[in-house]
Amino acid sequence: MLLYRIGPEGFYASTDEEGALRVLHSDPFESRPGGWELGRELGDGPLGLLAPVVPGKIVGVGRNYRAHAEELGNPVPEEPVLFLKSPSSVVGPKSPVVLPPESERVEFEGEIAVVLRHRLQRAEPAEARHAILGLTCACDVTARDLQRRDPTFARAKSFDTFCPLGPAIQVEPDLDEVEVVTRINGEERQRGHCREMLWGILDLLSYASRMMTLEAGDVVLTGTPAGVGPLVDGDALEVEVSDVGVLECGVEGWRRS
Ligand code: ZN
Repeated sequence: MLLYRIGPEGFYASTDEEGALRVLHSDPFESRPGGWELGRELGDGPLGLLAPVVPGKIVGVGRNYRAHAEELGNPVPEEPVLFLKSPSSVVGPKSPVVLPPESERVEFEGEIAVVLRHRLQRAEPAEARHAILGLTCACDVTARDLQRRDPTFARAKSFDTFCPLGPAIQVEPDLDEVEVVTRINGEERQRGHCREMLWGILDLLSYASRMMTLEAGDVVLTGTPAGVGPLVDGDALEVEVSDVGVLECGVEGWRRS
């Protein structure tokens, strides 16, 4: 089942067995998808989809695919390299990524994003499985020049619009068979399978939960496969995750408003 958040109010909607999108009357963080109460069907008109979650924090992991670590000239780390990305960087589907004037090299990183259903603290991987609300598509947009120049990733990862999320959360994911594909202007640039991760989804959640308490609605980005590259004004960015759908975003140069 897919969980959407509809604008401008931000209510939840989900697909029924026939695939029709209906208003969700249940709290997706409090009840399991099988028990969800669905209301009226949403019409065929254009729906303003919002980012499917408003995270309290976004945890990223660097170099979780061997080939990506190598393409950036980095050694494969002995432990996951965690970083934080500001929640203010989140935008929903179809919202543009805006290239900030402080960077001359902004790059895409298509990723599988995990959304937490409830709190997780010093958890074992098996416990982490039950804390997952679902998976969605993310682009961990990165100002690569600033990432190389700065002692921390904070600035390079956190500009406004640097975390497109959506279009929906797959709330019944197959955690052993997830693939992420990134396309720029329709051309495939990245393809990664969760089997290729150095630390799998449950191990990552378990590891992160030892360093900081993960809360309901928090998002964990699971790293990007090889093939990262620059975004320029006018690009059409797509990130597709198995059983989720395609997150589509435009890219805009900086215009003073
Ligand atoms: Zn990343």
